Amino acid sequence: MAQTDFDLFVIGGGSGGVRAARIAAGYGAKVGLAECDRFGGTCVICGCVPKKLLVYASRFADEFEDARGFGWTSGEATFDWATLIANKDREIHRLEQIYEGNLKAKGVATFTTRAKVDGPGAVKLADGQRITARTILIATGGRPSRYGDIPGAAHIVTSNEIFEMKTLPKRIVVCGGGYIAVEFASIFAGLGVETTLIHRRDKVLRGFDEDLRDGLMEALAARGIRLVMNEALAGVAQDVGCFHVALHSGGSLETDLVLSAIGREPATHDLGLETAGVRTGARGEIIVDSFSETTAKGIYAVGDVTDRVNLTPVAIREGHAFADTVFGERPTQVDHALVPTGVFTTPELATVGLSEAAARELGHELDIYKSRFRPLRNTLSGRAECMLMKLVVDRATDRVLGCQVLGPDAAEIVQTAAVALQLGASKADFDATVALHPSAAEELVTMREKWVPAPGI
Ligand code: FAD
Ligand code: NDP
Repeated sequence: MAQTDFDLFVIGGGSGGVRAARIAAGYGAKVGLAECDRFGGTCVICGCVPKKLLVYASRFADEFEDARGFGWTSGEATFDWATLIANKDREIHRLEQIYEGNLKAKGVATFTTRAKVDGPGAVKLADGQRITARTILIATGGRPSRYGDIPGAAHIVTSNEIFEMKTLPKRIVVCGGGYIAVEFASIFAGLGVETTLIHRRDKVLRGFDEDLRDGLMEALAARGIRLVMNEALAGVAQDVGCFHVALHSGGSLETDLVLSAIGREPATHDLGLETAGVRTGARGEIIVDSFSETTAKGIYAVGDVTDRVNLTPVAIREGHAFADTVFGERPTQVDHALVPTGVFTTPELATVGLSEAAARELGHELDIYKSRFRPLRNTLSGRAECMLMKLVVDRATDRVLGCQVLGPDAAEIVQTAAVALQLGASKADFDATVALHPSAAEELVTMREKWVPAPGI
């Protein structure tokens, strides 16, 4: 075989690319990696991590309020956005350095530049340098979709810009009904911003269990978020110190900031894919087989750029499996079936396995177990918000197909329940598990009554 500069060259230093590079290097491969922006990628720089820090910040108002019912009195609480962002920036910078440092510690040669495929077995860097590699991994992630065709689209920001915003707006309009839209609507509402969510459908979070969607919308509305459903943005016009948002139905709104969160698209633009025969699908995603190999032999792709399940732990899994397969002599496929996921609204929700509707669509006869209750903490605080837990059970086998939680710590609870589902636990296994009392999670192992729809439902 002809001599190449590297055994593996990775394009993209985010979750998937960094994991793949480190593991391949650990198997003894000579690895190079190009990152055109900041090491760590979306999750670390402008995704999961800074988002969760903002989520924490947004929840303190609840804590101050709830504390009163437990006997605490404190002075007037004030919030400073600039302090939060400066502290967040420091932490993100620290993580970014760790990501790059970990690559270097494994002997990976890093290039802080843009790269593209340049025919089979080669990549070209932005300065024109051509590098050859036996295997190429594309892990370039995704980027926010933008409104292209409406007047004033240039005034609309995306999640990328929001983390760098200098001041906190007094009013915000958030467009979209997916993860990012509801999470940011919730963050801003928690920080005291007058928040409006505009979505083109009648409910947010398409694809999630209906009970979670309904419960979340009820809770967001109760927390003062204005939910404008079945509506679309027609345009944005700048005025003195504010924006006017025109709606399709003819109405309009005045606001200080418009955030669009209408999905993300795979970052495959100008990647030279055609030079090597790497095929893409309708959304621009790279088409791969179950081992993440593209239509071009020796070129692989992992993470959001393949638009399979666009979550950090999945990108990491795919990157790891790729390295095991190609460099570790351990062919490994990633199972995308039982991926737990959380939406970090307040209250948050999380799910693993099938929603009730998805299970029925697959032809399962179901037993449903549901519990809606006021968590103990909310008794003394006087907070009316309820928690929801739901198990979707296959009647024929008693196997738990799905677990849904809405309420405090939903993500923590569902991560643990995911182990049980991964092991194929039955409802009887849940019942046989001793409760941990007093906890909210104990509800998952104490639900005995099958849910019976009220007459007429
Ligand atoms: P990325 O992490 O996007 O990495 C791709 C890297 O490639 C980037 O650093 C980019 O600069 C670089 N790159 C692109 N093109 C080139 C090129 N030509 N040359 C060199 N480098 C290039 N997921 C969760 O699991 N939990 C969450 O709570 C969560 N929250 C999120 C919140 C937000 C606001 C967003 C936007 C996403 C969130 N996600 C979350 C999704 C998660 O961030 C992604 O699924 C994950 O980062 C995908 O990893 P990746 O390696 O595929 O791509
Ligand atoms: P999503 O795909 O989750 O949601 C996009 C939303 O925008 C949907 O409600 C969609 O509506 C709507 N939409 C799409 N196109 C248009 C349009 N042209 N006009 C108006 N509305 C439109 O994307 P996000 O941007 O929220 O997040 C991207 C991905 O990042 C997520 O899917 C997830 O994989 C990941 N992520 C994960 C998080 C987590 O794990 N907590 C947090 C944030 C992001 P419709 O339903 O009608 O299609």
